[in-house]
Amino acid sequence: MTARPTTPFPAATVLGYPRIGPDRELKKALEAHWSDAAAHPAETVLDTLAQLRRRTTTRLVELGLTGDAAVPSEGFAVDHVLDTALALGAVPARFAADGYKPAAPDTPRGVELVTALSRGTDHLEPLELTKWFDTNYHYYVPEIGPDTALSAHPESLVERYATTLAATGVATRPVLVGPLSLLLLSRGETTDDAGARPLDRLDDVLALYISILSALAEAGVAWVQLDEPALAADGWDVPRAELVAALESAYARLSYPSHRPQILVTVGYGDAGEDAQLALARTDVDALAVDLDRGDVPGESALAAWGERPLVAGVVGGRTVWRTDLARAVEKLDLLRTRARGPVAVGTATPLLHVPHDVARETRLDPEVRAWVAFADQKVSEVVALARGVGEGWDAVAETLREDAAVREARANHPATHRAEVRERTAAVRDGDRRRDSAEARRAAQHERLRLPELPTTTIGSFPQTLDVRRARAEHRAGRIPEAEYTARIREEIARTVRAQEQRGLDVLVHGEAERNDMVQYFAEALDGFATTQHGWVQSYGSRCTRPSILFGDVSRPAPITVDWTSYAASLTERPVKGMLTGPVTILAWSFVRDDAPAAEVADQVALALRDEITDLEAAGTAIIQVDEPALRELLPLREADRPAYLDWSVGSFRLATGGAATDTQIHTHLCYSEFETVLDAIDGLDADVTTLEASRSGSGIVDGLAAADFPRDVGPGVWDIHSPRVPTFEEVAGRVRHAAHAIGADRVWVNPDCGLKTRGWPETEAALDRLVAAAVTVRAELATDDDAAGARSTPSRSTSPGSAQPALAFER
Ligand code: GLN
Ligand code: ZN
Repeated sequence: MTARPTTPFPAATVLGYPRIGPDRELKKALEAHWSDAAAHPAETVLDTLAQLRRRTTTRLVELGLTGDAAVPSEGFAVDHVLDTALALGAVPARFAADGYKPAAPDTPRGVELVTALSRGTDHLEPLELTKWFDTNYHYYVPEIGPDTALSAHPESLVERYATTLAATGVATRPVLVGPLSLLLLSRGETTDDAGARPLDRLDDVLALYISILSALAEAGVAWVQLDEPALAADGWDVPRAELVAALESAYARLSYPSHRPQILVTVGYGDAGEDAQLALARTDVDALAVDLDRGDVPGESALAAWGERPLVAGVVGGRTVWRTDLARAVEKLDLLRTRARGPVAVGTATPLLHVPHDVARETRLDPEVRAWVAFADQKVSEVVALARGVGEGWDAVAETLREDAAVREARANHPATHRAEVRERTAAVRDGDRRRDSAEARRAAQHERLRLPELPTTTIGSFPQTLDVRRARAEHRAGRIPEAEYTARIREEIARTVRAQEQRGLDVLVHGEAERNDMVQYFAEALDGFATTQHGWVQSYGSRCTRPSILFGDVSRPAPITVDWTSYAASLTERPVKGMLTGPVTILAWSFVRDDAPAAEVADQVALALRDEITDLEAAGTAIIQVDEPALRELLPLREADRPAYLDWSVGSFRLATGGAATDTQIHTHLCYSEFETVLDAIDGLDADVTTLEASRSGSGIVDGLAAADFPRDVGPGVWDIHSPRVPTFEEVAGRVRHAAHAIGADRVWVNPDCGLKTRGWPETEAALDRLVAAAVTVRAELATDDDAAGARSTPSRSTSPGSAQPALAFER
């Protein structure tokens, strides 16, 4: 026997709300605790969490989410995936061996556990961070191997519900990542687990979910939300049919007990697929939320199977900051309502964690642009208005619909969204504009011009951003120091950076990016068509937030951006200084991009602005220009069918940006934050002369992958992991250089760190760069000896064996 709904599903809801706080309260509390736990004990974090939870609840009710269970009660424990993993007691054995026991997250011990898992300890690596679907949010990857001990910990879920109810009178809806998605997003604990999949633990995990659901029922919870976004993505190591079968049996089990809350299953981040919808319909789950922002209105057969159970129509997108097109939302809702047999509630397509809190606070944003934008609170109001229309008829919200149409029309007619000169230029782009001279011709011309040694050394661009530099920028921004003084201070920093590189003997220098707050925002501020916000923070991972710019209009470059700083650096040295730009795909990926023009067109506008910048850099004598694209992999669509079109426009825009460079200008690109194996062809398609990649944490994986793929271009697989202050040993660095030189070929390999150095301090930067240069010098010498040895057909050189590199000691600090 199974439970039947008793509390009806509310007419309006959101799947989640920003968790960090309107003034980043959670970030501040966590970071204070992490930097000084004695002054800011775990209780201060818990207090902040409790306050934020109360604030979120009252705010959502105030905005109109008044129904029972309309307000989600989310896990705040730095990450929702980690929060669910902790409800399952998933503490990896290496932490357990160190005395960390499972704990409910909202307790002092829970805060310590979350801290250890997310930040690591002296001797334990933290959980890995990975992109959450195709967003710029990163979650902590749970480690669930065949032997990981698991146990149910519903205490915090129950307590959040009970304390919110007591404090505000609101009965909330607890949210967990669903069992299937949780396991698909997890990995094994050790490489020994490689053969076993976390999904093999589904039975164990289901038993725990059942006991958690029972504890929630005991506490009086009417509805619980289980998120299964994994269903919207391809690429899991499980065939789709097996996945859907697992979904059905999992939810059949979860919905079987009579002592449980009603279950809302959400997908989000795209279309669940009819196979998954039909599978869920065959179980006794009580409500289903569908993404109608990115996905389609479910078909007749799925809806017939679903019967009279409620559906949550996710018509308000949670991924962008644009107002919802209410007329289109009405159309979708009407279509769904004619097909659906049961009630239709209105909701967001995803949680609102990807958008900032409230656009009303953006008092410096152009009022016209501000009217086009909806942050979380505005999206909640859209949901509430649409739900009212569903309930009372569209006439009841006619005024809101009219106002939206008027704003939409004003936006379409605004001169900034349609600039003839920009449109004409993109329309005139020809295939040839995306094509340079042949790779061989370029290689020869660049060799002739640059005369670099084998295994040339370089860095990725940024150098340590000291407090002093950041202060100078802040003062400049606030208008507190005159332009000339600011320029002098940045120049001083550039000079110091150039000197430090010359002293260490690097071959290709950089200016260090001291003038840049953020690699995207810096360009957004210099280009027309972008706006920046004051409070538009969104969580990136843990306590880290970013403040994406808003790309709202046609893009153009009013004046050169980087040329003065780069030229100044070049004037201080005989060695080549690399110009440093952020590529079009990354600029789009890390901004809120307009939804009223195709991405390909927007990307080409940005590309043309960068193309002009490259022309100006070349005219100023720059021989090497790097165009960073760390986000190339990140925007890759979740569904395989959508990938070719994406790769076409993204690669095309990079080629448009760089396609005007002279044959003897060396174009570099840089990628990081992801697995590259799936996009090696696209990286090749960028047609850059040199590609530097984050690689040192992958062991020899990426290097071997490049070698196996016979990657035909020069590459710089990172040999120094810059994500921690640890200085690698000479042997480690030399080992990586040697391996790359042998696997890929010394004539193709560059020697560089994994990524930019802006989060590092100067001492460790100097020490690590010393070793990096020494490693390159040593391996060059070994290779020369090898060649001699091969020429003389003598016995193999001793110096190629690991650990025999003599200069090591001289460079140990
Ligand atoms: N040039 C940038 C820097 O060095 C690249 C950063 C990145 O790839 N994320 O900071
Ligand atoms: Zn990088």
